[in-house]
Amino acid sequence: MDYDWSAADLDFRDEVRAFLDEKLTPELRRAGRLATSVYPDHEASMQWQHILHERGWAAPAWPVEHGGCDWSLTQHYIFNRESMLAGAPSLSPMGIRMVAPAIVAFGTPEQQAFYLPRILTGEVFFCQGYSEPEAGSDLAALTMAAVDDGADFVCTGSKIWTTHATAANWIFCLVRTSRAGKKQQGITFLLIDMTTPGIEIRPLVMTSGEQVQNQVFFDNVRVPKTNVLGRIDDGWTVAKYLLVHERGGAAAPMLQVMARDVATAAAEQTGPDGNPLIDDAAFAAKLAEARIRTEVLEILEYRTLSAMAQGKNPGPASSMLKILATELSQRLTELALEAAGPRGRVYQPHATAPGGPIAEFTPPADGYRSGADWQAVAPLRYFNDRAGSIYAGSNEIQRNILAKAALGL
Ligand SMILES: Cc1cc2nc3c(=O)[nH]c(=O)nc-3n(C[C@H](O)[C@H](O)[C@H](O)COP(=O)(O)OP(=O)(O)OC[C@H]3O[C@@H](n4cnc5c(N)ncnc54)[C@H](O)[C@@H]3O)c2cc1C
Repeated sequence: MDYDWSAADLDFRDEVRAFLDEKLTPELRRAGRLATSVYPDHEASMQWQHILHERGWAAPAWPVEHGGCDWSLTQHYIFNRESMLAGAPSLSPMGIRMVAPAIVAFGTPEQQAFYLPRILTGEVFFCQGYSEPEAGSDLAALTMAAVDDGADFVCTGSKIWTTHATAANWIFCLVRTSRAGKKQQGITFLLIDMTTPGIEIRPLVMTSGEQVQNQVFFDNVRVPKTNVLGRIDDGWTVAKYLLVHERGGAAAPMLQVMARDVATAAAEQTGPDGNPLIDDAAFAAKLAEARIRTEVLEILEYRTLSAMAQGKNPGPASSMLKILATELSQRLTELALEAAGPRGRVYQPHATAPGGPIAEFTPPADGYRSGADWQAVAPLRYFNDRAGSIYAGSNEIQRNILAKAALGL
């Protein structure tokens, strides 16, 4: 296995770097830096998507005929890595990275022609309607009903934790069309226009004070059967395919950026002995450990990439990477909070625009904030990151997968 980039890869890296240098405005970089979770400010993210789309790079992993790039796996990795290191706002994954590959794999030519170009332009913006109040880890327990009524299904039930439901105009849902057989059978994958009568969205307020997730209620919502993706009663096949795409990706560069920011913050903060916190041996050791683990993660990502480039299945490695990346990210948000010290007390300057742009600061009268951006973000990131070990398949579930697949238990 060769971990060095080839000369062609380095040329490609330089091309990506030049593009990022030119196109990432200070405002876009700031939006990337101030993201309080995996999701940056929605407007900035869409703005960046438009810029990438103009260059043909909004959805590089799609097949070329649908607007993707003819890149090697290594080039995809380099592109993601450079984008993260440069602080580009990330794009919402639900359309481009999740439902679109499923539309490519299972969609009719009409569905592909309608959705794919619109997802690229942002005209169609999807959210994900999988989880229900009683169906999360045990997703196949879902009950949202879709009753057959001629050319339509009539849907009643609710979805929960739906990220970006208020920004989305489409939702992809798993619905129950039959109760016969095993619970994985009788599930259908439906694409639902969020403007259809009978849909109500109630935002959920997170511990961070933000409202990015929602509960979505469906009351006799009429959906044409032409909006079924794949076959009726066989939505589980589509759902599983899509989950693989939900978990992919490179996390190490993002964690490196987080670690760098922690180090910067700790250099500005006074430690217990009156010297900069970064010089405190106990703090420095904790940060060093997190950085070493990030390096290890990056090597594991390279190893997985190398296996995939040779056409091998990454197997349980994706579960291992998910656990490592989310636990490390949580660790770094803890260190960021420690670096913020008393100034990291929860203060939510953007409570006016949940999940959105950080408003201009008016530091509280007691002056516990210096007004630096990172101090506003540190507590919000800390709270948001608790969810990292829950979503996209909880870490306990990933450990179950590892126990079976890697340890044979
Ligand atoms: C921030 C955030 C964003 C999300 N966004 C979306 C979204 O956009 N769309 C969407 O559909 N869903 C979304 N989700 C939902 C997410 O997929 C679920 O929260 C997740 O699948 C866990 O399900 P649950 O919350 O019902 O917890 P449960 O499944 O009830 O689990 C509760 C606890 O029990 C543990 N547990 C459960 N089963 C087992 C087992 N067999 N072995 C060991 N431990 C187990 C879990 O690990 C967890 O710790 C989001 C969640 C969060 C927190």
